[in-house]
Amino acid sequence: MKVTKSDIVMSAVSPAQYPTTFLPEIGLSGRSNVGKSSFINNLINRKALARTSSQPGKTQTLNFYLINEMFYFVDVPGYGYARVSKKERAKWGRMIEEYITTRKMLKLVLILVDFRHEPSREDVQMKEFLDYYDIPYKIVMTKCDKIPRGKWNKHKSAIRKAFGNVRDEDLLVYSSQTGQGKEKAWEWIEEAIEY
Ligand code: GDP
Repeated sequence: MKVTKSDIVMSAVSPAQYPTTFLPEIGLSGRSNVGKSSFINNLINRKALARTSSQPGKTQTLNFYLINEMFYFVDVPGYGYARVSKKERAKWGRMIEEYITTRKMLKLVLILVDFRHEPSREDVQMKEFLDYYDIPYKIVMTKCDKIPRGKWNKHKSAIRKAFGNVRDEDLLVYSSQTGQGKEKAWEWIEEAIEY
């Protein structure tokens, strides 16, 4: 997909604030610093559309980025990732659950994990949550340029194992720095938004 137009569109904390355009949405989940903003910026060939790293503890919102007037990337803030109070975390959990479980336009969730590390408990919980609600998802393993190629299989297996029953074709070795996996990521997205 050649991207000609992209704007940060809106932030939402409740359904009343979600876009009303009925365009398909691709959710992006993952802990802060995993490379979410870099993923969006790299895919759309921008240096800094998506804001980088939200500060832990700061109020988080769902951010909708309109791409080519065709679909939205929705930055789903960490599901309990940040160091915030229990009350804050519960509120935040409800916001994400509400979005994921009720949003008809949500076509696919990409769970971003750092290729160097095993997924966090929250990443695995997110995957189980999506399984439970039967929402399509795939795993993007970021920052692969930091791992020598000879070790990719080992890291891939460890991540796959930690997530449980993930199909091999649903795992993507990715780097925003080298562009590894970029084409495949677009394939996934295009396929998801066609339906
Ligand atoms: P976010 O908090 O998930 O939005 O993460 P960012 O996109 O801001 O990335 C966090 C840090 O990781 C930044 O310093 C990025 O430059 C770096 N980073 C992101 N993606 C990659 C990648 O594919 N390779 C490398 N080497 N660094 C990356």
